[in-house]
Parts: sequence; structure tokens; C-alpha cells
Amino acid sequence: MRDLFADIIVDISHENLDHTFSYRVPDELADRVAIGSRVLIPFGKSNREIAGFVLGLSDKAKFDPAKIKNIISVLGDESLVEQKLIMLAYWMKERYGSTMNRALSTVLPIKKNVKAKEKRDVVLLLSDDEAEEALVQFRKKGNVARERLMAELIKEKSIDYRLVTGKLNISAATLRALVKQKMIDIVSERVYRNTVKSSGTVQKVMLSSEQKKIYDDFSDDYSHGARGTYLIFGVTGSGKTEVYMEMIEKVVAAGKQVIVLIPEISLTYQTVMRFYRRFGDRVSTLHSRLSDGEKYDQFERAKKHEIDIMIGPRSALFTPFDNLGLIVIDEEHEHTYKSDQMPRYHARDVAIKLAELHGASVVLGSATPSVESYYAAKKGEYKLYTLKERAKSAALPSVHIVDLREELRDGNRTMFSKKLRDAIEERLVKKEQVMLFVNRRGLGGCVSCRSCGEPVKCPHCDVSLTRHFNGKLKCHYCGYEQLVVKKCGKCQSTLIGPMGSGIGTEAVEQQIKSMFPYAAVLRMDADTTKQKGDYESILSTFANREADILIGTQMIVKGHDFPYVTLVGIMAADMSLNANDYRAGERTFQLLVQAAGRAGRDLRPGEVLIQTYRPDNYAISAAISQDYEAFFDEEFGYRQLLMYPPAGHMLAIMTESKEENECMVMAASLAGAIRDGIIGKASVIGPTAASISKLKDVYRQMIYVKSMEIDTLKAIKDRAEEFSEKTDGGARISFDLDPMNGY
Ligand code: ADP
Ligand code: ZN
Ligand code: ZN
Repeated sequence: MRDLFADIIVDISHENLDHTFSYRVPDELADRVAIGSRVLIPFGKSNREIAGFVLGLSDKAKFDPAKIKNIISVLGDESLVEQKLIMLAYWMKERYGSTMNRALSTVLPIKKNVKAKEKRDVVLLLSDDEAEEALVQFRKKGNVARERLMAELIKEKSIDYRLVTGKLNISAATLRALVKQKMIDIVSERVYRNTVKSSGTVQKVMLSSEQKKIYDDFSDDYSHGARGTYLIFGVTGSGKTEVYMEMIEKVVAAGKQVIVLIPEISLTYQTVMRFYRRFGDRVSTLHSRLSDGEKYDQFERAKKHEIDIMIGPRSALFTPFDNLGLIVIDEEHEHTYKSDQMPRYHARDVAIKLAELHGASVVLGSATPSVESYYAAKKGEYKLYTLKERAKSAALPSVHIVDLREELRDGNRTMFSKKLRDAIEERLVKKEQVMLFVNRRGLGGCVSCRSCGEPVKCPHCDVSLTRHFNGKLKCHYCGYEQLVVKKCGKCQSTLIGPMGSGIGTEAVEQQIKSMFPYAAVLRMDADTTKQKGDYESILSTFANREADILIGTQMIVKGHDFPYVTLVGIMAADMSLNANDYRAGERTFQLLVQAAGRAGRDLRPGEVLIQTYRPDNYAISAAISQDYEAFFDEEFGYRQLLMYPPAGHMLAIMTESKEENECMVMAASLAGAIRDGIIGKASVIGPTAASISKLKDVYRQMIYVKSMEIDTLKAIKDRAEEFSEKTDGGARISFDLDPMNGY
């Protein structure tokens, strides 16, 4: 028998996860000790017996083997949630590449010292009749803020103060005035921090026959103990969320717990409220604005079985539920499900692994499934459900194309085609609303030298600065800002000026305001949503019809139902096709279909106008005919040809350093080592400079490895890790398995 040593942690809520102790695994326990196992050990000088978790196993001792004590026994409590999370962390480390420590700190809730917080609620003091009467009065007087608050209070009775001032955008002065009139009160209580208060009124719809068929099938599987992964491919507004809620109810009724993932951007008051109304305070939410302490509290509540349902972005996967029954991933195609920090995990794959550890099921939903998921469904790995009809309105919006090349030929040099302009005017006359989707912030375009052609670049990144209002130039990658320069930095020429067709949110806003001076216009992009609550307040202003036109980046594509939006205009559909990664087509198709899905959500029929220079591109033409199958066939053919995921797997390896030379040398020697050591079939591309070769003052070189076998890539990753440990110091190495964006 060879020697086996275990790294054991005794307090896993501790911040220093690398604070482990070495123990020997005695021969008789060797086949029972695994990563994640809970074991009993003699600890400290007095050898008192305490429990710990095994984080790593090795046949090499860290110090004199004679001084290493033996593990006493395996506690074998398999149901422990910590054990599953440690196993999950290990799986993530192996698959995506990172240290065990980083994987653990991604997965385990870390206790931070936090003070209890004061929580305040705005509560309604009026009876229902009085409140309705007040509502009518506010409306008569045109007092929109008070009307908005009263409408919400009639539904909720009591609302978190922060939601009132933030998401509902009610000023403190307004609240004071209403308190004085004894209509509302502001009550403080020291509470165990919950994020939203429930109203507890059950609201259920009757499922349509299409919806019911899906629910029944899932329910049947669940009752018979069948577990698996399901993909609900349902057009926008087809009632996927209602189906999830039925499934969740079933699983919770069986005494199990549920995690619901939604993209951070759709984590809005409206969405969360739908779950609260249905499930009351058995629900909690996580989002990026919670402090570490608040997050920890939510995790503690989950552990103590005070809640059964956790809603949140990808990190909600690590809620320490001990009897997980279901994981729902809404809008599963969203790129926010992929972590951009090591370990660069994809929430879908982690969810499937976690479900396997718990014996749970996974339900994915989207109107534009990722090529990965649809391929898995086609292969029979996932069960496919489809919803073809919208739940409320009679029809999907009608989608039309505007060929911008023809506009140019007809002498129209503006960014608005005649058709789009007329359509906007028609909506303004009818008092309906318009959403305009633009892919870029600012004025669009950059500034460059007419003499030597050099663009004005960010001093920290290898990208051109984008023009913004007030003569500002901004870097969209690091936030750097400067005023427009008057002289070329390279050739000193003063012939310097704007370049490129400027289609950005600010430019569109300017044009709209000059074309329709009487229209109320809102703009939503990273520049107008810097403050807490900005995002929600723009959306609620628009939802309350205090504006006619909402101009925005992809931020406007998600989250809300606006019944009065009957026109969605897409300013330049091909812009996202120019991105240089293999997912550009998929992303373009998804954006267009999702943006189109914002039109005609209620009873009024919706229209979508897509302006483009490339109407024949398959991603754009498939979006126009709303034909997912056509898109998928074309896209998958291309991926197969080039062995891109999901036809094969791809590992992106990046070397980074502040020293350009160091970065290149490391990349070259690493690529050499990989080429020499390949076992199995793989092709290695590079090293080459990343397409953004410098970001925030750090140089980046890329190596791409493609293979049909994920295990081949794992072996290559391990080899690269080993290599980088040997050449320590120098450039940093990181990995991205099946990347979602280009580097
Ligand atoms: P999705 O998640 O597919 O976008 P939602 O579940 O949000 O769709 O449903 C869209 C709208 O239709 C929501 O307002 C929802 O309440 C409503 N809805 C969904 N299913 C039904 C149904 N069976 N009966 C009535 N209304 C429904
Ligand atoms: Zn120049
Ligand atoms: Zn920059």
C-alpha cells in the first residue's frame, strides 16, 4: 500500500481556505476517504477529536511523514451540504482550471463580520377603499409619483424603503408629505435581513394546454423518480415563467428545495415580485448589490430551512440547500451565466453537475436556446419541450427588414430609414410607445488622424476611444476618459476628426430629439445607469408611460413587459456581426429575436423594424423570419466545419503580463510545451496577440486548443498548469474552456 495524505480543513466558513492541515489516511480507510469526505482527526497538542473536511489528497507528504498523524475515522454523513459543495468545487477546478482554493471560495459561503442592519418599510395606513380614492385623486392632479406609489402599495401593503426610493423612484420629500397626511407610515424594525417582503397572496393562472402538457410530463417524470435536464424552447412571452412556477410548486411540495437562476439584468422588482406573490416568504433573492454579510445571511436562512426557493444570478447555484430538487435556468442562452473569473465556469454545466450530486433535475428555458443546449436536446441528452404560442396576445410581432444600402442609394445619409421614421411618428400620434435598440454607447465611431490614419487610442488598452457628448472620448473597456485631442500623437498633424458611421445611443438620442422635439425620450446604457436604482427608475418611468421612446443597448432587451410598446426599431442589426469570435452569429440572432420579442406583448399588435446593411446574412435573415431551426442548421454546420463548440471543445489559454516581452516569451514556450506533450487528438493555434492585445495596461497572448474530447483538453490544461508552476513568476496563465466571448 502506498502512502496517502489528506489536506484537511477544520473551519470551512473561515476566510483562509488554504489553512489546511496534513493527515495520513490509514490503509483501512483508504477506499472511504475522498475529496469532500468529513473525517474525525486528533487536533492540536492535546489531540482533542474534531471533525474536518478533506480538500485534497496526495501521495507526497508536505513535511516529515513521521510527524503526520492519522485520520481516526470517516464520519460518512453523505447528506452534508458542505460535502457536496466541496465535491463540486473539485469538479470545477478539474474542469475549468483554477486552484482548489479559488474554486472553494467561489462555492463556499464565507462568513464575514457583519453588523445587523436597520430595515425600514413603507406601509399603507389606508383601507382599500380609501387607497383607491387617493389613487384617483393623485391621477386627477397628474401626480405621477404618488400615483405610482399608491398603486404599488394597494398591491403590496408594505414595501421595503429602499425599493420605494430606488426602484419606484419616490423622493424622501414625497414620502414625508404622505406621512404627514397619515396615508402611509415608515416603520423600522431590526430584522434578520431579508431582501424583499412578501405579500403572500397567491396568484395563479390556468395553464394553457401547451403549458400543461409540459408540466404534466415533467411532473410525471418527477413522481416516478426520473431526473434529468429539460429544455423549454418557448417564444418570448409564451408563459415559460408560469410553467417554472408550477414545477417549482410540485418540487417544493415534495419537501425539496429549488434554485432559480435568472440573468442579473432581469432581476427586477417585477420579476422577483411574481415569485413572491406566488410563494410568499419561502423565497429569497441574491443579487450583486447585496453586501457579503447579506449574502451570508441568505445562505444561513437556506441552511436552516427558512426558505425553499433561492432566486439569483449564477452565484445562487451555491446556496447551501441540503435537499435540492430542481434548478431552473431562465434565459439559459445569456452570456452572464459564464463566469469571467477563474474558475471560468458555465452555470449550466455546474447546475447539471450539482443536480447529479443531489439527485435533482434541471430545467432550462429560452426563446433563443444556445446552440449548445439545442444540440444536446437534439442528441437526446436533454428533453425538449416547445411553446409556440404567446400566452396573452394573439400573435407574435410582425418583423420587417429595411435595407440600409437602398436608403443610401436613395440619398438618405441619416441613421433613420424613411420607414422607421414614419413608423415612429405613427406611434407618437397614437400615443403608443417605441423602443430603439442600438448596439453601442456614446456617439459611436472614433476619432482618427486624416494624415496618417492613426486612431486615438486608450493609453491603457489596445482599443480606439469612442466619441461621447461634450467632446469626451471614452474607453469602453477600462472606463478611461479624456477630451478630444487637437493634434495627432503620432505625426502631429492637426487634421484629426471623427471617423466611422456614428451609430451609438447618444447619437440616436440626438437625432430623435431633433426629428421629434415634442417626444419624451429616455436613454438607457452604461452611462445613464451608473447610480444604484437608475436602471429601475428608467424602466418604471417608461412603464408608467411618462416617456414615448426608450433608446438603449442590450439592457433594454430583457426583464419587463411594456404593454404599450408596439414598435421596436433595431438601428443597425449587423453591428454585432463584426465581433471577431465564433459566437458573433449566435449572439446577433439572439439579440434580434429577443429585442423583437419586446413588441406587442399585450393586446396591441407589435411591429419590428430591423435596419441592416446585410439582409442576406443567415443570422439576420433567420431572425427576420423568426426561424430558429434555419439559424441552428446553418450555425451548427459552421461550427462542425471548424470544430467549434458544441461540435467540439475549445480551450483558450491566455498569458498576461505588464511586460510585453515576458508575455510573449511565456506564450511561445507554453505553446511549445503543449505541442510536444499532446496525448490524443488536438489542434493548437497560436500563440497570437489577443484581439485586444492590451487591456488595463496588461498585455495578452492567446493559445487556442481544439479537440473533440474534453479529456484531451483537460490533460493539456493540467500540463500547462504544471508548466506555469515550474516557470514561476513571470506571466500569469489562465484558462477558458468553451469560451463565450473573444479575447
Ligand atoms: P415568458 O417567461 O415565456 O416570457 P411569462 O411567463 O412571463 O412568459 O408570460 C408572459 C405573460 O403572459 C405574463 O404576463 C404571464 O402572467 C402571462 N401568462 C402566462 N401564462 C398564462 C396563462 N396560462 N394564462 C394567462 N396568462 C398567462
Ligand atoms: Zn497622424
Ligand atoms: Zn482602456
